[in-house]
Amino acid sequence: MTTFQVGAVSVTEVVETAMPVPVPLAFRGPDGDADQVDADQVAALRARYPAALFTAGGDPLLVFRSHVLRTPSSVIVLDTCWGNHKERLLDPYAHRLHTPYLDRLAAAGTDPAEVDYVFCTHLHQDHVGWNTRLVDGTWVPTFPNAAYLFVAAEYEHFSTVPAGTHGHDSFADSVLPVVTAGRHRLVEPGFAIDDTVRIEPLPGHTPGHSGLHVTSGSQEAVFTGDLFHVAHQFARPSWHIVSEHDAARATQTRRAFLARYADTGVRVVPAHFNLPAGGYLESRPGGYAYAPA
Ligand SMILES: [Zn+2]
Repeated sequence: MTTFQVGAVSVTEVVETAMPVPVPLAFRGPDGDADQVDADQVAALRARYPAALFTAGGDPLLVFRSHVLRTPSSVIVLDTCWGNHKERLLDPYAHRLHTPYLDRLAAAGTDPAEVDYVFCTHLHQDHVGWNTRLVDGTWVPTFPNAAYLFVAAEYEHFSTVPAGTHGHDSFADSVLPVVTAGRHRLVEPGFAIDDTVRIEPLPGHTPGHSGLHVTSGSQEAVFTGDLFHVAHQFARPSWHIVSEHDAARATQTRRAFLARYADTGVRVVPAHFNLPAGGYLESRPGGYAYAPA
């Protein structure tokens, strides 16, 4: 379990699962462009990034986790992983999981009943799972007193994804039951959760994909969700995971993000990197370095 501070805000990681993802299999370059994903580039780029991000075999290790933020006024759970007992036929590794996530949450000092807000960076199945848990055959909110904040454009998009595609089943068992229970709230990008935490739009991976921006005292951090899945994208922002909704828009968002936050001292925490406390982006010729925080 990792805990770190952003000014007066404490952040604790709660891990659910992890798996390696081979870059050449899971990522694409832009159509018809020379900037394609190739094994030599993947290996060369890997050498510039912290070894902790990769398995011994050299593949990026993707971690599925929540971050629990304790601000001076709120307890916020950011992203809720896959969840237990979910039917995930499109994602065999996440089908009917049975992990001790709730025990780990308790070990991290968090009682679900004390959580004020749940925020999912987007509504993909690996970010909404523990929004609900199964009780006597019914999906109920895991965090009974929380307001679940959904970006309106994101909610709208996932309310119409067809059966048999990613995000459909998870919307039904991990988002709609929250709405039925009256615990959701639709918000716009830029929404301020409290004095220290606001929602930062980072669109492209999904239509309403957003991060959380924390500012406390002189310290800042941005939790970037799935804007970056692997460090290679710091040097190749046009590389995108195959599940990206709008690759061109996501690329544009990545480029703007890198230009804005490199060399600023703002901590950057991607959802799935095997560095729970994130790191700092630094400009380098031909891309960016990432120094673990
Ligand atoms: Zn994800």
